[in-house]
Amino acid sequence: MPVYNQEIYRKEKHWKEGEFDVYRNMQWTGPGCHEGCGCLFYVKDGKLDHIEGDPNDEFSRGRLCMRCLNMVDEAVNNPTRLGHPLKRAGERGENKWEQISWDEAYDMIEEHVRKAWETQGPEAIVALEGTGRNVVWQVPLLEYSAFKSPNYGCGFLSGDSCYLPRCSASVGVLGGPSVVDCGQYDARRYDSPEYEYPEVILQWGCNAIMTNADGFLGHWIIDCMRQGGTKLITVDPRITWMAAHSEYHIQVRPGTDAAVAMAMLHVMIEEDLVDHEFIDKWCFGYEDLVEAMKDATPEWAAEIAGVTAEEIVGAARMYATAKPAAFHWGLSTDMTPNGVGQAHAFMVMQAITGNVDVPGGNYLATGPFGVDALYGCGYDYFIDDELKKKRIGVEKYPLHKFGAAACLVGDELLLQIEAGEPYEIQVMYLAGTNPIVNMAAEAPRVYKAMMKVPFIVVADLWMTPTCTAMADLVLPIAMSCERDSYREWWTPSRAITKITQYEECKSDEEIIVDLSLRLNPDGVPWHDVESLLNWVLEKDNAPMNWTQLKDQMYAYDFKGYRRYETGKLRPDGQPGFNTMTGKLELRSTLLEAMGYHDLPFFEEPPESPVTRPDLFEEYPLVLTTGKRHWEFFHSEHRNMPTMREFRDQPEVEIHPADAEKLGIEDGDWVWIENQRGRCREVARVTPIIKEGVVCADHGWSFPEKEAAVPVLQGVFDVNINNLTTQGVVGETGYGAPYRCLLCKIYKCTPENSQVTPSDLVFGTKA
Ligand code: SF4
Repeated sequence: MPVYNQEIYRKEKHWKEGEFDVYRNMQWTGPGCHEGCGCLFYVKDGKLDHIEGDPNDEFSRGRLCMRCLNMVDEAVNNPTRLGHPLKRAGERGENKWEQISWDEAYDMIEEHVRKAWETQGPEAIVALEGTGRNVVWQVPLLEYSAFKSPNYGCGFLSGDSCYLPRCSASVGVLGGPSVVDCGQYDARRYDSPEYEYPEVILQWGCNAIMTNADGFLGHWIIDCMRQGGTKLITVDPRITWMAAHSEYHIQVRPGTDAAVAMAMLHVMIEEDLVDHEFIDKWCFGYEDLVEAMKDATPEWAAEIAGVTAEEIVGAARMYATAKPAAFHWGLSTDMTPNGVGQAHAFMVMQAITGNVDVPGGNYLATGPFGVDALYGCGYDYFIDDELKKKRIGVEKYPLHKFGAAACLVGDELLLQIEAGEPYEIQVMYLAGTNPIVNMAAEAPRVYKAMMKVPFIVVADLWMTPTCTAMADLVLPIAMSCERDSYREWWTPSRAITKITQYEECKSDEEIIVDLSLRLNPDGVPWHDVESLLNWVLEKDNAPMNWTQLKDQMYAYDFKGYRRYETGKLRPDGQPGFNTMTGKLELRSTLLEAMGYHDLPFFEEPPESPVTRPDLFEEYPLVLTTGKRHWEFFHSEHRNMPTMREFRDQPEVEIHPADAEKLGIEDGDWVWIENQRGRCREVARVTPIIKEGVVCADHGWSFPEKEAAVPVLQGVFDVNINNLTTQGVVGETGYGAPYRCLLCKIYKCTPENSQVTPSDLVFGTKA
């Protein structure tokens, strides 16, 4: 009997309902988040009126969260949206703009791009994107096809600390990323006769029901718990809802996760809880692993992480003996310089217990029909080998040439802009990224560096602080329901269809077409958005083009389980995994060939109570940042009244015992400070955070405040990235310590608030 009856809901793409035209579609940002939940868009007189979840979307099954439910009035039809191209009229930061036409905007871009080509070469043009929103293939494609430059990257995210460490490590260990199997790759979902619910899901460094990250919806875990009796194990310094519903909750000190994971591997090996048959046949380097984990005892890890050895042993036994067991790994994996070593331990755990590519285990996720429309799409088509070598930072950090995203190294870009060597960056194009509010560690330093770039274009939905502070040209971008687009985050392929138009906004796809036809007319195989989207699928020989996909909306490409037996994981069609040895590489030959640790390893964070006792004396709290809220996606949504009604101010969680020692009460404004800077947030005194650790919000600005410099929506006064670091990355260049630094906290008073961080950034006070 199906667990979910969708037959009672309509399945057409469009129908009439009273005064409304109803369109089935999906919401890929912006606004929103990483996902593409299915929506019913209710349109009246050509204008979007309201939105509901689409029960026939297999991915989200009718569920929407508060950001999407409120987006029509508060985002799509919000009169503060950008609706026309704007050219800077005053000095940078003055917030004075002149409305211009798209042709004039393109003239400006063309002039600066051609000048960069002539004076330096295309590499002097950099394009940056934000998180995995619906610009992941569009920004690199614009950069490669129109600007002919290899230098595309993330918006100064140090260590590319979002999914890239995990994904790149997975290329060398599993042959690609692995994701908890909640049946999402098969259109039959939980009703498939092949599907099995995980007996256990181990969730590590993630609060999936708030995060909904990277093609995975947290409510699927709840489905598994309710329908399949799945039990949870959680590793997190915070007592989240999921942690509270777990059999084991290991409350680690941030940045010590790899030690705990290695100790769990130690227990599994010592107690012989591993799948020998699978290891013998499909894994490489087991003996090396056994040797490397020999000393990683639970007692050793417990002391490092501030947990008990019993918890580690119990969790290891529970995960290893469950069949199947699944492993959900969150962003905190990436947000430590030890991220690749930690990810390696997590993948090995999945492998030696025989839980890779099995129903209800960890599925090896691939692009549907071989289409690579994720990060780095278009790389091979427009950039020659000589230009590839000019990608900033990849010779120093060659793992960036592989993995999920072949992109520039953001930390190295910052150094290059600061030094002006080996050449100056002349043009910067930012899409869907707001670096000085959100991604950029050491935001004041990044702000100063970006101000040196002579010409900056920002393509966005709103006049963000990054736009106001440094844009020379602002392009208004269409929201999800206003664009024709192709999207995937693993299977299925999805076609997004344009429903409405807002003012003069254009989609990223339209901008690619317009600029590539201006700047590289003989080099691109498209002439409009439809032919561009058809090309995205046709270049990889997908069995349908976008025009066909548009009719069916989704195309699943589920190739069954245990594909290592059927040859469906390797390009040569042979059984095995898509690694150098064809096996799951417990010891990675790729990492070894590059001179990196080839087995899981632990390193203390560079600024921790252990590595820097001198700093710890002055800054006695461990600082972690970046947790998610229902109301916001990174720096977005602060201008939506409903979100602010629920959460109006940035908060820092502090344990009652720590708060008492510091004389801090719930609701006090406090300064959070370390040797790089400080910011202020509201203290939330709560036992859900581990004692000795504070957890500070990121991404805050106040759209209701003055936009111009030096206020700039108050961003630098509340920016936790005044305290984070650039260039303190792992050996591979991946992973940075956003989640494991040191700080102190004290109450804000009039005396200690006379000179604010904004004053220091803008030089308004000594
Ligand atoms: S997870 Fe929430 S914000 Fe993201 S697309 Fe789905 S409903 Fe919208």
